[in-house]
Formats: sequence, C-alpha cells, structure tokens
Amino acid sequence: MKNSKKEGSFLEDVNYFLEKGFSFLKLEAKFPNQNIKERLITPDRCVENKVSILMDDGSTRLIMLSRVQHNNDLGPYKGGIRFDVEADLEHTKALASTMTWKCALAEIPFGGAKGGGVLDPHQFSNSELERISKAYMRAFADLLGPEHDIPAPDIGTNQQIMAWMRKRYEDMNNGRIFPGIVTGKPVGYGGSRGRMQATGFGTVYSAEEFLGGLKGKTVIVQGFGNVGSYAALQAYHLGAKVIGLSDPYVFGGKGGIFDEKGLNIAKIILEPGSVSANTPAEAVLCHTCDLLLPCARESVINLENVEKIQAANIVEGANGPITSGADNILRERGIKILPDILANAGGVTVSYYEWLQNRQGEYWEEDVVLTKLQQRMKQNTVKLLKFADEHKLDYRTAGYSIALMKVAEARHLTGAQ
Ligand code: NAD
Repeated sequence: MKNSKKEGSFLEDVNYFLEKGFSFLKLEAKFPNQNIKERLITPDRCVENKVSILMDDGSTRLIMLSRVQHNNDLGPYKGGIRFDVEADLEHTKALASTMTWKCALAEIPFGGAKGGGVLDPHQFSNSELERISKAYMRAFADLLGPEHDIPAPDIGTNQQIMAWMRKRYEDMNNGRIFPGIVTGKPVGYGGSRGRMQATGFGTVYSAEEFLGGLKGKTVIVQGFGNVGSYAALQAYHLGAKVIGLSDPYVFGGKGGIFDEKGLNIAKIILEPGSVSANTPAEAVLCHTCDLLLPCARESVINLENVEKIQAANIVEGANGPITSGADNILRERGIKILPDILANAGGVTVSYYEWLQNRQGEYWEEDVVLTKLQQRMKQNTVKLLKFADEHKLDYRTAGYSIALMKVAEARHLTGAQ
C-alpha cells in the first residue's frame, strides 16, 4: 500500500528494522568475517513460477506464483501463502523475513518462508481457485515437505485451499499420507482446533499482558477478516469496550462502525447485517482509544495519516501495518507499539501445534490448544518487555534483537556455506 509521501517498500521497512537490531547487537563484530548481515538479511532461496490456469469458460489465465525460503537455521521453513494482487516477489521476501524473526522470537523450531500468488481471489470461481491452489502445490512440491517447508493460509487463502494443497501433494506422492505438509487445514482433515482463532486471540493475549488487563479499555480494530474478527471478539470477552471497527470491504458504505458505548462483537460476528457502517473507515482508525489493533494489512499507518493517529497503544495483529517513517513518529509522540513479530505469532504457534499433532497422530481439545497459546503469548510478551526495559530499547528493536541473536548463533554453528 503506497502513499504520496514516497515511502520505501515493505521490504525496505523490514530491513530498516533489522538494521536497528544489527547495530544494537553489534553482530558483525561478534561474528567477524562471516558476512553475517548479508547471510541473515537475504533469503536462502526465491522461486517464481508462471502457471497457466484453465478458466471455467475454457479460456486460460497466466498467474505468477512464488515461494521465498528466507532462513531455516532453527527448523523447517514455515510461512503462509498469500493470494493478492500485491503479492509479488518483493512483497513475499518481506513477509518471509518477518516469519524468520517471528518464529525465533516465539521460540518455535521453524524458520521463515512465504508464498505468493499475484491474483485477486474474489475474481475466480471456487473451481478455478482449486486449480490455482493445486497448481501452486505442483509448482513448488519439490521445495516443500513436512520436514522442509510448510505453507499455511494468509490473506486470500483459507482452510479449503490448504485441504486442496495437501491432497495434491499426497497425489504427487502415490497417495502416501502427509498431513503435516501444510497447516491451517480444516479440523476434519488434519487441522488443529483453535487454529482459526489463534492469531487474533494471540494478539489480544499479548495486549492483555502488556496493558495489565483489558477490562474497560477502549479498543479499535482495523480489518475484520480472520485476525481482526477474532481479536475483536476476544477483546470483547475480556471486558474491553470495543468502540470501533474499520473494514470497508466487510462493512461496505462508509467502511467503519463506531459507538462510544461499545459494540456487541459477539452479535456482529453472528449477524454482520445487524450493524451498518456509520463512520468513514479512516476516521475510526484515527479515533482516540486506549488500544488500536491494526489487523488488516501492511503500511496502513504511514506518513500520510500518522499525525492523525490518537491511540495510546498499538498492538500489531497484521504484518507490517506501520511503515518505518510512521513508527519513528509514533514513538516520538509516546505511543507504545508491540510489534507484529511478537503480537501476531499466535497463528504460527498453533500451526506448530497442528504440525506436532499431525506427527503424533493425536488431536488436542480446543481448550488445551488455547490455554497453551495464551501461556506462550504471555511468556513471550513478558520476555520482550523485560529485554526492552533492561536495554532501553523500543519494543520492535528489542524483538528483532532477541530474534536476530538466536538465528545468528544457530547460523554461526552451521559454519561457512
Ligand atoms: P483476511 O483477508 O482474512 O482479513 C483482512 C481484512 O482486512 C479483510 O476483511 C479486508 O477487507 C480488510 N482490509 C484490507 N485493507 C483494509 C484497510 N485499508 N482498512 C480496513 N480493512 C482493510 O486476512 P487475515 O488472515 O486476517 O490477515 C490479516 C493480516 O494479519 C495480514 O497482514 C496477515 O499477513 C496477518 N497475519 C495473519 C495470520 C493468520 O493466521 N491469518 C497470521 C499472522 C499474521
């Protein structure tokens, strides 16, 4: 998402945040003559594959698909697949890099990867999407595997798409069963209970720990898709007053819903038609609140709108919602920000639980999954806050520093390449 202030790309922002971690840790001095910075910033492998998809009307469409494997020093590559018109290779590189740091910070034994398909999924029928999903698996099957690289859903993909991909991988392997080839599958087809809620709930668990509880706190949520709807629901259940929701694509019209008295999120999820958009989406985003949860997509808070943001605290449910320029300004204004690599790790955490369940062939109850998730999100948050406090760092630099040190130490142990 670009704006007229000519900010850098999402990838440049991720690398800018990484640079701050590198300079705090003085990593190049700690690991001299190892090219450590270059080795950790650049992806291990990037592959693009143009596929030809048969459309329902008999015509064909060319679609560019990609897989970026950023780093696997801590475990198999792991990262979702995004079907979106902006999901080009550079975008996918940025998302793959954030996966590496997210898994390292969460102490999950996975590396970082991401997949992209440059398309608008809303323009395709179900059967066309099935063909695209299976084509994705066919294109990258040699790079993927439960011990090597494990996709999951992201924007524009979902459980159904993961089911199609698993099936195609198994068909390509003579029908042998590989439930752990992808995560985020439907519960009836090797998925984990609690995966749907995991990212949104995880973001709120992190926020709850950060703010010492959410009871009575005013909350605004941007994006009402998978992450945003579950984040809003969990904040509501924990006693927060969710006063605003912003999602022009879900709510239509003005794009935002605002009510100073607080919205009944449980009802809105059950009956989305029970509310109508009454406020422009951007006005909701910029309204005063104790806690803003941007859960839509990257770069939505940028140099164009940063001065209007009135939240006291921001916890990032989406990947990269704040540009580097906006991040500096918000922090100068005293607004506290818990970064994406900490706060949206709930999804990959439960993906890890799903992968473990697939390996063990036993499936856990939902409350077991969500309790484990809650404990882990809270522990990770405490760890980051303590590190930031000890070293007088902002939370984002603290998160990147903890993660970088872990991966650098592992890469150092692997020797020269
Ligand atoms: P989604 O497609 O289900 O939901 C995104 C929602 O944001 C959509 O409803 C869309 O209409 C809305 N949106 C888009 N642009 C907007 C804007 N400018 N203002 C307001 N709303 C807008 O996707 P998701 O899975 O919920 O992912 C959202 C973000 O969270 C992405 O950055 C994704 O990478 C990140 N994330 C997702 C997961 C996961 O498990 N799904 C895990 C980690 C991070």
